[in-house]
Amino acid sequence: MNDLQKRSWAEISLPNIRHNYEAIRAVLPTGCRFLGVVKADAYGHGAVPVSRTLQEAGADYLAVSCLDEALELREGGITMPILILGHTPPEYTETLIDRQITQTVSALAKAREYSEAAGALGKTLKVHVKLDTGMSRLGYLCAGDYFDRGVQNVVKTVSLPHLEVEGVYTHFAVSDEPGEDCEAYTREQFRLFTGVIDAVRDRCGFVFPIRHCANTGAVLSYPEMALDMVRPGLLLYGYGDTEGRLDLRPCMRLVTTVSTIKFYEPGTSVSYGRRFVTQRRTRMGVLAIGYADGLPRLISNKCSFAAPGGFAPQRGSICMDMCMVDLTDLPETKVGSEVELFGPACDIYQLSDAAQTIPYELLCAVSKRVPRVYAE
Ligand SMILES: *Cc1c(COP(=O)(O)O)cnc(C)c1O
Repeated sequence: MNDLQKRSWAEISLPNIRHNYEAIRAVLPTGCRFLGVVKADAYGHGAVPVSRTLQEAGADYLAVSCLDEALELREGGITMPILILGHTPPEYTETLIDRQITQTVSALAKAREYSEAAGALGKTLKVHVKLDTGMSRLGYLCAGDYFDRGVQNVVKTVSLPHLEVEGVYTHFAVSDEPGEDCEAYTREQFRLFTGVIDAVRDRCGFVFPIRHCANTGAVLSYPEMALDMVRPGLLLYGYGDTEGRLDLRPCMRLVTTVSTIKFYEPGTSVSYGRRFVTQRRTRMGVLAIGYADGLPRLISNKCSFAAPGGFAPQRGSICMDMCMVDLTDLPETKVGSEVELFGPACDIYQLSDAAQTIPYELLCAVSKRVPRVYAE
């Protein structure tokens, strides 16, 4: 990066992506496929570079949220299979087929529309069927009284003439949360998932080539649910394994620089709203990062960042482009010093707890103004 432009940036370690991929692979049953979730610009890490790393490392599949994200990967030279997890309007069926993108079908009516659109082109669309086993989001309803209807609709789907049904999947609501209730709920979702798959086979003889349900939480806590393919996102980026079983490494280091340093007398109010007032003579630094870069305003006055010599408490409301830190006890930190907001030196959970959110949201929130700098 041009030194003159040094403001804030996100260092992305592709070797750490590869390390995490291999660490997860090492605990999978042999023959189990690996789908890497790279939606939302690979959780802010850059979809094309991350996907290229996974492709070279030998991953089997990628997943994105929407057609635009899938096309970005194809344009970036990614040739491996890509699954769209969300909805794509049937008008785009030809694009899906031509770019060899796999579409999720989440209801019989949509499956029929895709099949008709593909048939009109004289082509076949590759799809994965999504079952709603308790997330109550996308998918064929099949819990409780809906079981028979769900099975029936899936049976109709797999016999549509212009769809190639390659896979079936479901998504867990609480596989990453501790406690007996969460475990029981996850096991019930899994029981329902395999129950529908078995009933479809019994009803019409159809066997899904790829069954998948294991997100980050399930890869960690329910290895028996790996089936034919696992589908982690967060783990790839180095988070989620709070017990440290997999030796994962964070892949993003969010860094800013000190723009200026000033001394204030006791009783000086700092930033918008005057929500911080100095108690002592204070050496205050201004950091070149704010909420427009993705630093949540909610953490104002609640966090510390890793600066040369130690942790610098953040003071006063976080502004759009800047925020302030107390450097009184950190004489080594000077104008131009680098300060890490999260990464290897500064735990992202400190920030996500203070912001009452999860690491996912902080990673995705790093805005496009923040250049990504790649370590190869
Ligand atoms: C986002 C997503 C994942 C990945 O979730 P993680 O918790 O990051 O592992 C897997 N499957 C679906 C359907 C998703 O939407």
